[in-house]
Amino acid sequence: MIKCPNCGGETKYNPKEKKVTCDYCNSKFEPKELRTIINLSKEVKKLDATSYTCSQCGATLLVFDDTAITFCNYCGSNALVNEKMKVNNPDYIIPFKITKEEAIKAYRRKIGRSLLVPRSFKLDTTVEKFRGIYMPYCIYDMGYEGDVSSRGSVKYLHLFGYDYYHDYKVSAQIKANYDGFSYDLASKFYDKYSMALPFQYKDVEEFNLNYMSGYYADSKDIDIDTYDTQITKIARNDARNELSKKRSLKFASHGCVVPTVPVSIENRKIGMFPVYFLAMVNKDKDIVHYAVVNGQTGKVAMDMPIDYKKYILLSLLLAVPAYFLISTGPLVQPKTVTFIGMLFSVMSLFLSNSQLDAIKRDREHLDDKGYQIASDDRKVKMKFTERYIKHNWKQTISFLISFLAAVSGTIEDTVYYGAAILSLLFVLWAFHDLVIEHNELSSSKLPQLEKRGGDENA
Ligand SMILES: [Zn+2]
Ligand SMILES: [Zn+2]
Repeated sequence: MIKCPNCGGETKYNPKEKKVTCDYCNSKFEPKELRTIINLSKEVKKLDATSYTCSQCGATLLVFDDTAITFCNYCGSNALVNEKMKVNNPDYIIPFKITKEEAIKAYRRKIGRSLLVPRSFKLDTTVEKFRGIYMPYCIYDMGYEGDVSSRGSVKYLHLFGYDYYHDYKVSAQIKANYDGFSYDLASKFYDKYSMALPFQYKDVEEFNLNYMSGYYADSKDIDIDTYDTQITKIARNDARNELSKKRSLKFASHGCVVPTVPVSIENRKIGMFPVYFLAMVNKDKDIVHYAVVNGQTGKVAMDMPIDYKKYILLSLLLAVPAYFLISTGPLVQPKTVTFIGMLFSVMSLFLSNSQLDAIKRDREHLDDKGYQIASDDRKVKMKFTERYIKHNWKQTISFLISFLAAVSGTIEDTVYYGAAILSLLFVLWAFHDLVIEHNELSSSKLPQLEKRGGDENA
């Protein structure tokens, strides 16, 4: 569809040169000038696209040229059904600013620091699957212009059992404007990634199809007004906060509460924002790890599971020098060893509980506003008490062993060493749970179409 005007070849938007380039005849075009050539006038409200819908998870990707999509970027499935369709012309776009190679570099830099990341994350064949996608976002225009006021009173006298008050009314002239608040409108692009990768509003341009050349687009499957309440609340809170900071208004000293500023949504626009997206599906095809690179800023948000084999190996490697340090040197007194045991068990207790909290939040989608709103009727509540108990007893026993040895007052070194070793074994056991939980947290269930039981659709 976006053909080179010189030779009819396939073109691609190049973020480095900020030009649409043709590899066949080496032509380069200004994206904005090319608009006239492909005859996309402002009056065009619908764009021709090919949609690829994944029969495994239901995600739909769009392409605006002849590019074929061979796999789903959310679940990796190859079962895609394509269809020609017309889609609404978005209003704005932030063009890709970094290339796929730069995105891969940023990703490699991030995992390079981690010793424990699974080997498959580093393979060229994995990294190659990064895909440049424009995600649909709702961009809000919000504001308020007018008065706000608040009434209050201050007691100035107490006489013969009566209170005397001065009444006040504090009002203020407000002009508040909020531009560039945005929320993503693709439900499978989880908030935990989109929130971690904020976009900068300064690069927003009027939508131009030429920027899509060579890239994909995610389809909008969340209603544009889904986040209205949330976004209004955020803006109103912020405006009220600003107001309370204005000391000259003296709300408090006049006994007035700071009034709510009725900021409201003036406009909603659709913007396409760039990300590089990678899904890594496990062997059993039930878990997926996502890596997302912001195509504007190059920031990376990703799941970083721990490779269990590497973890064991590293622990053993660290255990050897630790063992020699403790057993040979006069550095550490036998009794001190038990304190180390206690320290480890308490540390592990804090770590595992904070991690369990995080898993609970994640699995109940507590931080995913889109999910919360879209699925009020199927709120997940998870029973976690058992899991807390299941974990905490190991650290508790570990602590008790070391503690009892420390207070036993014995002069036998073997008691201290024996207790310390036993105590550390329990901590290791708890750490094993910690690794498993960490991996649970840094993964998502492979998205699947919700299968309805019975024939309720009949
Ligand atoms: Zn050409
Ligand atoms: Zn899929």
